[in-house]
Amino acid sequence: MTKRQLVIYSCLTVVFVCIVALISANFISTKKYVQDSVQRETKELLSNFVAETNRFSYERIVELELIADYLPTLMEERQELLTYLHRQNEKMPFFAGLGIIDKNGIILASDGSEFKVQQEQSYRKAMRGEIAFSDVFRLRQDPTQKVIAISVPIYRDGKAIGVLSGVVNMSNIFGEIAKESHLPGLVFLVKNEEVFFSSSDQMQLTDIIPDFDSFFSVLHEQSSGSIDVNRRTAHFLSYEKTWNDWIVVVDSETNPDREQLDEALWQNGLVLFIAVFVVIVVVFYVNHIEREERNRVKRDLLTGLGNRLRLEEDIDTGLRAGKEQGFSLFLISIDRFAELNERFGYHIGERIVYWVGRKLAGFIGKDQVYRIGEDQFAIVRYMNGTGEGPFASQLMELMNAPIDVGMETPVWVAISIGIRQGAQGDNASELIQDAAHANQEAQKAGGAQYICMTSEFSEVCAHRRQVALQLETALQRNELYIVYQPIYSVTLNKVVSFESLMRWRSPVLGEVGPMEFIPYMEESDLIIPVGNWLIRKVAKQVVEWKEKGFDYFTITVNISVKQLLHPTFLQDVSRIIRETNVDPTQLVFELTESVVVENIKMAKEVISTLNRMGIQTALDDFGTGYSSLSILKMLPFQFVKIDRAFVREMETDNGLSITVLRGVIGIAKELGLGTIAEGVETLEQLRSLEKLGAERIQGYFISRPIPPEDAIRTLEKNDWLS
Ligand code: C2E
Ligand code: CA
Ligand code: CA
Repeated sequence: MTKRQLVIYSCLTVVFVCIVALISANFISTKKYVQDSVQRETKELLSNFVAETNRFSYERIVELELIADYLPTLMEERQELLTYLHRQNEKMPFFAGLGIIDKNGIILASDGSEFKVQQEQSYRKAMRGEIAFSDVFRLRQDPTQKVIAISVPIYRDGKAIGVLSGVVNMSNIFGEIAKESHLPGLVFLVKNEEVFFSSSDQMQLTDIIPDFDSFFSVLHEQSSGSIDVNRRTAHFLSYEKTWNDWIVVVDSETNPDREQLDEALWQNGLVLFIAVFVVIVVVFYVNHIEREERNRVKRDLLTGLGNRLRLEEDIDTGLRAGKEQGFSLFLISIDRFAELNERFGYHIGERIVYWVGRKLAGFIGKDQVYRIGEDQFAIVRYMNGTGEGPFASQLMELMNAPIDVGMETPVWVAISIGIRQGAQGDNASELIQDAAHANQEAQKAGGAQYICMTSEFSEVCAHRRQVALQLETALQRNELYIVYQPIYSVTLNKVVSFESLMRWRSPVLGEVGPMEFIPYMEESDLIIPVGNWLIRKVAKQVVEWKEKGFDYFTITVNISVKQLLHPTFLQDVSRIIRETNVDPTQLVFELTESVVVENIKMAKEVISTLNRMGIQTALDDFGTGYSSLSILKMLPFQFVKIDRAFVREMETDNGLSITVLRGVIGIAKELGLGTIAEGVETLEQLRSLEKLGAERIQGYFISRPIPPEDAIRTLEKNDWLS
């Protein structure tokens, strides 16, 4: 996870937690509010109904008492009594029936029927002068009706002579009350564990109170109370016992406030859902952006192909994925690309690169081609070591087409391919480096070809890598030292000069020859500090030997192309001369032809300046490379060093080398240059060269390169050829 992702995700988490906290707080407060208001309304509804029933009973009693007061005068007149009762009954719709019970317990009902009293207990109670309520019973005239009787005594002269009894159908009464009031809940009327009224057709009280029996046992102890059927959903039940053991039960089931809970739940759920959705979208988006960014880093802008990073990653993941099949890495480069750039300009160079990239991508697919360097492409193919050659040939054939770069004539390019087979556990960057080496070999061999990296070659590469690595610190760790090879003057018969030659004793690699390590120094620019170190060291050596009494000798220093053309070279040299106090005329700088050819104009300037400073110059390895005599004429050298190849061939090539040597020495003489023949290993060679007119001789015959303490002794020796 990147730092940016971490920050965004942390912020997101904080925001999300806050939202959830807000939602919860909001929901909890809504719930509390709804619960409280529902509970309050349920209780209010209950107390209304209780008050209503109480009022109802009180009014009925008063009515009955009023009638009872009037009755004694009519008791004897049966017909009048009946008429009166009937009229009263008509006037009072709350009574399902009125009746008078005489002393013998015979009821005379208002409809004229006469029968024995059913509710004996309450009748007796009333006869005793009390107001009595009966149990529930079925109305004799209409057994579908369940009723109770309210009984009051009828007094004459202070004595109860009978009972006036009004029959009331409580469910009807409740129905009337319920009809008139707006009910925020369900109302039930219960007596003796039987429900007499329910304001709902659908809901049964037994559904609401599953434990119906224990509910009634609780009622024995407490005449009113409240039960949380489900507090969470604000479902409450309140009950209270009223007159004659009627129980009013109110249930909040249908309280409209309860809907607010669902609403709040729904709303908060929606907010939560949106929040979760936003979080998911943001996480997805951030990941997407990160991935895009990562991909962008791994893509080449010009061609849109993967770059080196992507290649390394793909090789690594491919290897980790454990593809059983082996694979091969093809490293492709455009032949003589630097030249193309120089000739046509970078703009055209880019077009060529783009074209090559498109050709390769068109052939095997965009995902499998990478651009890993200015003019370098790579392809990874899973194959088992047999198809590489044909595949490489196919790639090269792809280039067999003109490239329209917007100029008059199209451009043609060729490619070189380095192939490296890979296997599980291989390191991606080493594979690429190996393939690059193979590619370089193919280019060095002339281009338009492929070279497979063999295991021996791979070892060589590994060694080279090690050399380059160790070389980095060789100077700091004092691993470099100098040996001196005497140069003998034939005419003076003594050593007059030394060539300083660098040596490297590496604790890891042992003695490494200059032919092996100097190219690396040049590649990595190490040659600049090392070269300065060398010049300074040689200058000090000159001063030291001079102080010991030898003042006629010179020491030659090999200067590489990078050094000579480095912008601070002349400054560095003059500083060294100043600081070491060396006599510059005792220094000779050896330059190879390649140094000179690289930038002839600048080389001329530098060499002239060196000459003006007093430093002499020698053209090294003359006869190899370009062997251009014009160089000798153009540049102000003081010496020519004839390459040892001529000396070596002198006795074997039927006089060809001798002819060349004679010519070179002759021209050198004409130009006023001193000649130094290198690689003289025998007296015969020396004699021949002497005859040809060579002035100075360098080679194993005189001495191998030796440490300074040995070299100084060669200056003392004066009888070399006697
Ligand atoms: P070079 O400048 O041509 O140096 C002469 C090489 O020939 C030396 O090899 C020397 O040991 C070798 N040599 C001398 N006499 C004989 C002989 O009789 N027979 C044979 N077979 N070889 C002989 P070395 O020291 O291995 O140097 C090789 C090359 O490395 C040098 O060629 C030079 O180009 C480069 N080099 C050596 N030291 C330095 C240095 O300090 N700076 C730079 N820039 N290049 C150096
Ligand atoms: Ca040399
Ligand atoms: Ca040489």
